[in-house]
Amino acid sequence: MKLAMIGFGQAGGKVVDRFLDYDDRTNSGIVRSAIAVNTAKADLMGLDRIPQENRVLIGQARVKGHGVGADNELGAEVAEEDIDEVQNAVDSIPTHEVDAFLVVAGMGGGTGSGGAPVLAKHLKRIYTIPVYGLGILPGTDEGGIYTLNAARSFQTFVREVDNLLVFDNDSWRSAGESVEGGYSQINEEIVRRFGVLFGAGEVQAGQEVAESVVDSSEIINTLSGGGVSTVGYASEEVDLTASSGGLLSKFTGGSGGGGDDGLDAANTTNRITSLVRKAALGRLTLPCEIDGAERALLVLSGPSDHLNRKGIERGRKWLEEETGSMEVRGGDYPREIPEVSASILLSGVTNVPRIKRLQQVAIEAQDNMEDIQAESEDNLEDLVQDDTEDLEPLF
Ligand code: GDP
Repeated sequence: MKLAMIGFGQAGGKVVDRFLDYDDRTNSGIVRSAIAVNTAKADLMGLDRIPQENRVLIGQARVKGHGVGADNELGAEVAEEDIDEVQNAVDSIPTHEVDAFLVVAGMGGGTGSGGAPVLAKHLKRIYTIPVYGLGILPGTDEGGIYTLNAARSFQTFVREVDNLLVFDNDSWRSAGESVEGGYSQINEEIVRRFGVLFGAGEVQAGQEVAESVVDSSEIINTLSGGGVSTVGYASEEVDLTASSGGLLSKFTGGSGGGGDDGLDAANTTNRITSLVRKAALGRLTLPCEIDGAERALLVLSGPSDHLNRKGIERGRKWLEEETGSMEVRGGDYPREIPEVSASILLSGVTNVPRIKRLQQVAIEAQDNMEDIQAESEDNLEDLVQDDTEDLEPLF
């Protein structure tokens, strides 16, 4: 499907930048337009791919291009005050060629955390196409203020978008690696996971279209109904030269598309079934219990002779049983790459212990900050006043 992506804040801008790079590399054609919005001039300058004219600096009157310093209330205020400047950039998007907006932001900071929900609300008021959010949760080691920001932004962002896709930095940190050091790898993971998914609804010119190919409307229907989504992914290398459909399907009279009989078809089906399980039970972009997900979409991607209908059907049935959902869609995304992958979008997830923990820590941080603030006046008084009160201020 074709998206208009708007990266809000530093993380948002960097991720959209990487999406453009991914699009070029894979010829996926998912980013129709890309915009970056920030209160920090330096962050906008640090982007590589987003066109200069699509980089919008907001809040100059308030913060003079220096950012909002992790104050997401200020981030939200500034976004509201300067929404016309963002709209000017959005005006350049040919929205009739776009299936949806995707507003991307790190939820732990200030600009994106506060601004992204404001922008989503604005876009929803003006446009009829869906507005999705891609929200990035901070690592648990980032500290109380980031957790509090994220918890408050999460509540607001979910309410303002048609669906909030979540990526949790915390569960993607490689062992022994700080989140900061690992952003480039993490960002690559983000664009790969969401790229395969959104790319599925985008058929390239000259590409053969099987009837089981996933269409944008299936992605949109899976996301409609709102709530929170997570994505699972698993892949396996395959040999493009020893294409399975080739010889065997000729002998068995199959017409490509993997054929549904013969030993190779059985291998293909088994590979797909185990990839589906790995994708659903492995690391999700937002870790959660998949039981209770309201809707799901299974996308099988790879060379067309390595995909078959039976595999997708089995995968879909298995997902229905595991999630308890009656709305599990599935289809192909044929790509001539030496890899078969299963991508699973779980939409409307509700059993998410990670969010409950985030909220608990946020409440503790909020209480602590209030206590500290309440004590600070007394403490300062104690510090400034000499014990015997012999000294007098000048005036
Ligand atoms: P803002 O510019 O004020 O919106 O704040 P940032 O985007 O710099 O940071 C917000 C949060 O996003 C941080 O707490 C990190 O958790 C996360 N973050 C920052 N940069 C990146 C990035 O490049 N990739 C990812 N995945 N997360 C990031």
